[in-house]
Amino acid sequence: MFDPIELGREFFERLTEVDAAITAKVAASACSRCGGPLHVGNYPRKPRGGLLAVAGEALTVRFSLCCGREGCRRRTTPPSVRFLGRRVYVGAVVIVASVVAVAVAAAKASRRLTGIPARTTQRWVRWWQEAFPKTAVFAALSARLVPSVARSELPSSVLTRMPGKPQAQFEALLGRLAPLTTESTPDGARFVRGTG
Ligand SMILES: [Zn+2]
Repeated sequence: MFDPIELGREFFERLTEVDAAITAKVAASACSRCGGPLHVGNYPRKPRGGLLAVAGEALTVRFSLCCGREGCRRRTTPPSVRFLGRRVYVGAVVIVASVVAVAVAAAKASRRLTGIPARTTQRWVRWWQEAFPKTAVFAALSARLVPSVARSELPSSVLTRMPGKPQAQFEALLGRLAPLTTESTPDGARFVRGTG
């Protein structure tokens, strides 16, 4: 199915460092609405890890920035390798649980292995296989992959094509997904490059 990977404290500490580096790069840019300076405006998160990543539940701060100019104050939330958009589970869990759900097919077995309700993982699988292929991130990713990835086997069909050992493959895929994790940072991919 896939090699087991340790989604432990060290894994999430490394991802936190990547998020901090991405945030520092975005902070050095400017407010996309008024060109004002970007100040720290972090906000709390209460993520879940299911049975797969209890250590991920320690990630209680989403790095974010706010325009410092009076009358603007626009929020700019940088791309993240830890939080996959507004989903309550951490991003790595969204990947692993979806891989499991596609592989075992039986909803009960999936729930037993991941600790996540089957309707949640089924919603994620639909996102991987229907919405994700329509994104610019997928287009850029799949353009480099020959032969092309099987959509019915997403997300494992892209995960297993990432370079390196399983842990590195996870980090690489989370990095590629990071621009999808926020809508308030235009062209987010440029801030993610070179931070992983
Ligand atoms: Zn502004």
